[in-house]
Amino acid sequence: MTIGTELWAHTSTDMISYLSMGKKVVILIVFILIGVTAYFYFTSNQQLPINKNGISKQIFNDRIDHSPKEWGLTVTGVKTRLNTNKRVIALTFDACGGKHGSGYDHQLINFLIQNKIPVTLFISGQWIDKNRKTFTSLASNPLFEIENHGLNHLPCSVNGNSAYGIKGTNNAKEVIDEIRLNGQKIKDLTGRQPLFFRSGTAHYDEIAVKLANKLGYQVVNFNINGDLGATASKSQIVNALLKAAPGSIVIMHMNQPEGQTAAGLKAIVPLLRKKGFTFVKLFQHLN
Ligand SMILES: [Zn+2]
Repeated sequence: MTIGTELWAHTSTDMISYLSMGKKVVILIVFILIGVTAYFYFTSNQQLPINKNGISKQIFNDRIDHSPKEWGLTVTGVKTRLNTNKRVIALTFDACGGKHGSGYDHQLINFLIQNKIPVTLFISGQWIDKNRKTFTSLASNPLFEIENHGLNHLPCSVNGNSAYGIKGTNNAKEVIDEIRLNGQKIKDLTGRQPLFFRSGTAHYDEIAVKLANKLGYQVVNFNINGDLGATASKSQIVNALLKAAPGSIVIMHMNQPEGQTAAGLKAIVPLLRKKGFTFVKLFQHLN
């Protein structure tokens, strides 16, 4: 009996000591976890404008703890054709801005107006700043759908990728500013929030595309490169657009009046109409 009691007392003392050691370990682990979580939380949010500019913190919470895997014109999430098999084509014209990209192709726009061709214009903040009056006039014409071509016409990268020698955005915050600030500029001037985004150079990584989606945009490129950055000849433009199919999205430019985009367009539009195609704005067939 005595031996049994002693044994029990001895065992329970060991158990208490074992439990308190366990508790110590548990408490230590909890403190380490809190410390590590707090470190990552504060360092990862350091450079990000949490709600400062009306950006939801949620945009950042979902991100971006991995490196992008894709880079280019057709990464995951980029639309390259309309959601229809009807005989419709979306002509889109970029206005890029910058030192060599702030011109205005009167001839081209006049042709579109005279022939009542509805089109989508992707316009950058830089181009708007150089062509404010023209921008307002274009935006007031119901033929033209005004969409977002980025504030500074930058390739959209979360880690500083370049395209055609143009350095892209360096991180998520810069991607968001590039998209959001031009959207705001367009909305302030037109009263309409743009629905679609195409970056400068039309290059993205898949994380930038997701960020654009979170800001409310669909990212839209093309499946017909109509004027090769306004460097194509009239016959190259005609040949490119002859390949248009139901639902095609064509990219051309409205900011290079010295190019042959207007001449090519004038030649191809009657041929496409003869083939039974009509022209639509993006919002009519992308949702
Ligand atoms: Zn451009």
